[in-house]
This record gives sequence, C-alpha cells and structure tokens, in this order.
Amino acid sequence: MSGRLFVVSLPIGNLSDITLRAIETLRSVDFILAEDTRTSRRVLDRYEIQTPFYSSLYEGAEDARVAGVVDLLRSGRDVALVSDAGTPLVSDPGFPLVRAAVAAAIQVIPVPGPTAAMAALVGSGLASDRFVFEGSLPRKKGHRQELVRALKREPRTTIAYESPHRLQETLDILAAELPKRMIVVARELTKLHEEFVRGPAEDVAATFSARGEVLGECVLLIQGEGDATEPMDKAQREALLTIAREEGMSKKGIERLLTTAFGMPKNRAYEIAHRGKG
Ligand code: SAM
Repeated sequence: MSGRLFVVSLPIGNLSDITLRAIETLRSVDFILAEDTRTSRRVLDRYEIQTPFYSSLYEGAEDARVAGVVDLLRSGRDVALVSDAGTPLVSDPGFPLVRAAVAAAIQVIPVPGPTAAMAALVGSGLASDRFVFEGSLPRKKGHRQELVRALKREPRTTIAYESPHRLQETLDILAAELPKRMIVVARELTKLHEEFVRGPAEDVAATFSARGEVLGECVLLIQGEGDATEPMDKAQREALLTIAREEGMSKKGIERLLTTAFGMPKNRAYEIAHRGKG
C-alpha cells in the first residue's frame, strides 16, 4: 500500500503558530521533505521533532526530485512536505509533487496552518468575501505596471506578495495609476514589529517614501473597484457632509459615518467632522 503525502503548514514568523496536528504529523511521518532543511530545522528543533529529512525541495531542484519522492511514497513511506514559511505551494515549492502524487493515486493530506496572504487579508479591513491572490509580483517594473492597470476594473480585493526592495516602486505605480484606491501594506506579520499601513495609494506611497528603506516581509492588498468602502472623492464627500449637517447629524455621528461606512482613518475623519477640514 502507498504511503501518504502530508502538506504541512509551518509558522510565518512567530514560532508558536504551529498546529498540534502539524507537530504530530511531523513526528509520525517517515521523512520530511523541506524547501531548505536549515530553515525548517529551527522549527523542528523547537518542537523536538527528530524525523529525518529526505532531501530539500528548493526551487530549481523540484522537478528532478519529484520522481524519487513518488517512488518513496509508492514504497509505503509517509512523507511530510514543508516550506520555509507558511503553507507549501503558496508562492513556494510543492505543486509539481502534489500533482504527480495525485496522478499516481497517492493520498494527499493537507495539514492547514498559517499563510501570510490570509493573515494579511483578515487584518487588512478590506473586503474579505471575495479576493484574488496574485502570488509574488513580477520583478520587472513594466510587468507590474501592466498588472496594476488591469486592477483598475478588478472588483475583488487583490492580495500580492512583494519584496521590501521593490515595495516603494510598486507603491509609486499604484499612486500614479490608482491614487485614491484604498491599499494596505501588512508588514512583519506575527512578528514583533507587525504593522498594517492603510490608506489611499497616494498616502501609503508617501508614508513609505518618508520612511526610507523598507525592512521585513510585506503583503500588499488592493481594494477592489466599486467596493463599498472605497474612499469618496472630495466632491462626493462634501455633498454627503452637507446633507448630514443640514439634517442635524452630530460631529461625532459624522466622524463615525466616515470611519465605519467609508473606512476613513480615524484622525482624518476627526479633522473633517470637527474642523470641517478635508
Ligand atoms: N508559503 C508562504 C505563505 O504561506 O505565506 C509564502 C512564501 S513566499 C516565498 C514569501 C513571501 O510571503 C514574502 O516575500 C512576503 O511577501 C510573504 N510573507 C511571508 N511571511 C510574511 C510575514 N511574516 N509578514 C508579511 N509577509 C510575509
């Protein structure tokens, strides 16, 4: 009888983010197949997992390793696939192996856990009912520009992985193409310096530009076109505020309207509601 292929999620930063089932699985399988054995070692040591590595499955070595792993599974051995962080196959190696295992009628068992895309989405404040995952954004600036232009009519929240070295350039593209669209940069998720920077693309680009060098890992989220929480343009906002004031809505009420219904940052809503600025 064939063995089973477990696809096991590991933490994305905070080593405590591992499920009990992931630990049990990693302890009980015959071999662990890691993206980089040195990186996974840190997590395995923390949980006293002594299961041997079969080999590493780093990008480039993947296709060459698949046949050997499928043979191992066919011989009845259970194997757990892990990547350097989060969920394997999500912008990480593993897909050719899972596809080959499925084709060979080998049981594939996911052991779910953290993934940066989902952590970023649920903390972003952007619509989470429908979303698109773009994976890692293209390295070439021209390709990123094309992608951002295509997002002008994308109604769903877009989630993308971006390198800190290219983040500013991508934010500048967003500020030029979609200046008013709400975006979120989720940085260093689950780690000490976790932060969410939210606002219209032009403001977020300016915030990071003022900071200089960007450090740490980032997920970029872009609000869908026509999302109810899309920031209003100035004329729409003024029309709404005039009606609200004429109808006797309190300053506090206007502030709440701007933050809750329109997703506006608190300090900006305060300025508009109390000082009439905006
Ligand atoms: N398999 C991983 C997952 O499930 O999220 C993703 C691996 S991908 C090679 C690495 C990218 O994920 C990083 O460049 C960054 O965009 C994102 N990422 C991973 N960990 C992160 C974290 N702690 N905070 C923010 N982004 C993170």
